[in-house]
Amino acid sequence: MEFVNNKFCIQGIPVQELAFDFGSPLYVYDGEKIKQQYHRLKDAFNEVDVHIKYACKALSNINILKLLKQEGAELDCVSIEEVQLGLYAGFKPTQILFTPNCVSFEEIKKAVALGVKINIDNISILEQFGHEYGNKIPCCIRINPHIMAGGNKNISTGHIDSKFGISIYQLRHVVRVAKTNNIHINGLHMHTGSDIYDAEVFLQGAELLFEAAKDFKELEFLDFGSGFKVAYKDDDIVTDIEDLGKKIALRFNEFCKEYGRPLQLWFEPGKFIVSESGYLLVTASVIKQTTATVFVGVDSGQNHLIRPMFYDAYHTIVNVSNPTGTTRVYTIVGYICETDTLGWDRKLNEVREGDILAIKNAGAYGYSMSSNYNSRLRPAEVLIENGAARLIRKRETFDDIIRNMVE
Ligand SMILES: *Cc1c(COP(=O)(O)O)cnc(C)c1O
Repeated sequence: MEFVNNKFCIQGIPVQELAFDFGSPLYVYDGEKIKQQYHRLKDAFNEVDVHIKYACKALSNINILKLLKQEGAELDCVSIEEVQLGLYAGFKPTQILFTPNCVSFEEIKKAVALGVKINIDNISILEQFGHEYGNKIPCCIRINPHIMAGGNKNISTGHIDSKFGISIYQLRHVVRVAKTNNIHINGLHMHTGSDIYDAEVFLQGAELLFEAAKDFKELEFLDFGSGFKVAYKDDDIVTDIEDLGKKIALRFNEFCKEYGRPLQLWFEPGKFIVSESGYLLVTASVIKQTTATVFVGVDSGQNHLIRPMFYDAYHTIVNVSNPTGTTRVYTIVGYICETDTLGWDRKLNEVREGDILAIKNAGAYGYSMSSNYNSRLRPAEVLIENGAARLIRKRETFDDIIRNMVE
């Protein structure tokens, strides 16, 4: 979003106009920003054979998947439905990695039947996989390195109490199961959590994967997961991707020499690719002065953007209708019958009833985590590419609320 001629614009289109044309509340995605982030990551690792598997749970609209496919991205899917969505968007099965957690072996079999790559994070499943497929279908192993990382306990996945991955201390067992069942292990994977900005954490994880890789002679790739942090506030510390790229590439290439042949380096970013591209546009329905604060009640809430309440996430909010108004302090809240605060004590240009507010960083885990709580309708989604905005998902109607109810 840029400020030109006294108006907030995305690719030259005034944000207010978008809300007027497509209605409110509205999710808007800047397609050029998505491309930029993808290529920035790709370029940072240009000294290795890097493959970017977009973690599509962050934002799974088919048009976003197609856009990323066109740029050369591949896909990381965590459910069989995401796999179906990826195939529907035109990804080849071999471009998709299926990384489920705690699913039944039935779901794994469905994914194998669809021809996608399989990532296993449970020894019991690995055994069943071996009995069923033996040496016919290779698989990747998700390792839990027990590194405490990430911005919030709900998004840290590598720690000792986490349900994710096979403990790095159980690798000898994994090797045994693989050997006795003749399973080809084609990759090792690690994903320690979201919002990691420290390159050292990645490097520490990398060393653990390198060490583990020595026990597996048939590897094709090492998957370092994701967790790259992006800026939610102006002064936020973020992952220095270019610096990280150089450091990891150096160690990765050294390791490949030790290993004896070149391997692919995989990442599966979600947030890094789409977070900053997205805006949730909402309308100020009411201004409510209480004894303690001034609330702005908007036509949206935690049903559309749950991150502030669920992860204590900070999303910058801008009044795009009154960009030069006097600043005042507000608490921006939703219309849900819960305490669904979108922003506490925010300095905004004076908000009047009817003003359009833009909530930033709404690209990742915004729409994809939305619900119909309070029987509310989900917003429409709009994608801007080459300076033109187009609808990529219709706004829900009352029919969507009752569709599957059986009377
Ligand atoms: C969620 C997830 C990601 C993406 O994480 P971000 O923080 O959005 O980059 C990557 N890999 C796996 C296995 C995931 O579950």
